[in-house]
Amino acid sequence: MTAVRRPSPANQFSFSKVKAFQQCPLRYRYRYVEGRTEAFRSIESFVGTVAHEVLEWAYRERDGGRTPEPAAAAERFSALWDELWDGTVAIVRVDGTASDHLRRGREMVERFVREVLPRDASETLGLERRFTVRLDGGVVFTGIADRVGRTAKGTPFVVDYKTSASGGSYDEPENGLQARLYAACLLREEADRPVARAGFHYLVSGRTRWETVRRIDGDGIWSRFLALVREASGADEYPPRPGVLCAWCGFNAICPAARVPDELSGGLELARRPGPAG
Ligand code: SF4
Repeated sequence: MTAVRRPSPANQFSFSKVKAFQQCPLRYRYRYVEGRTEAFRSIESFVGTVAHEVLEWAYRERDGGRTPEPAAAAERFSALWDELWDGTVAIVRVDGTASDHLRRGREMVERFVREVLPRDASETLGLERRFTVRLDGGVVFTGIADRVGRTAKGTPFVVDYKTSASGGSYDEPENGLQARLYAACLLREEADRPVARAGFHYLVSGRTRWETVRRIDGDGIWSRFLALVREASGADEYPPRPGVLCAWCGFNAICPAARVPDELSGGLELARRPGPAG
């Protein structure tokens, strides 16, 4: 049986919450309306969690005047992997192995510390920085940005680290909106700055995609977000939207519409197993 947790406050919306509704209204209902916890988390998301912890450590080291070593980053990744791993982590692709993902994660953080960090001369303003903004109609936006900083020229920026194999694209509307929302938050705090930069750094390719957000773009960004909030909060029906994401959805064992092919059934099998994950 799926555990029930406290629903998030009805007026509080993060980017991932509105994105969940766009991806599958039924998943949104399970998670945010009924307050259920997903029965498993994918190993891809687990790799992301561990990598973020290691990058945070690397910046704290650098900002403390030390020089983190690539090998130490990889060792830290392994240690955190062992510490955080639990029975809820699912290898969705049945032909994958935990050791493949571990090796990939170690390589990502090692490369970041060897190639990206030494080139980064920016000042850190915050790591895992929470933004909270009160919007029209009593809606509260919340979000946590991986790193907030200031370039050598004084421009504030926000960057999120992505561990997905795909390079990502600003052509995907939700990606562009996430980055812009965080930049708009930053501009509310940096009253004398006309622009902020918003970026995604892709650890697999080592590349960062940047976008410049102007202060005058702010109203449009918040309007777009509020339109998505209204769509989710005003819904009186939550139809399932089955598709490729069903394999990674932690409600696939209880969802009558789930479509999970055999080769992607690792999460479903874990959810059906008796025990804490099932
Ligand atoms: S299994 Fe698929 S259709 Fe069902 S809630 Fe999850 S994403 Fe939606």
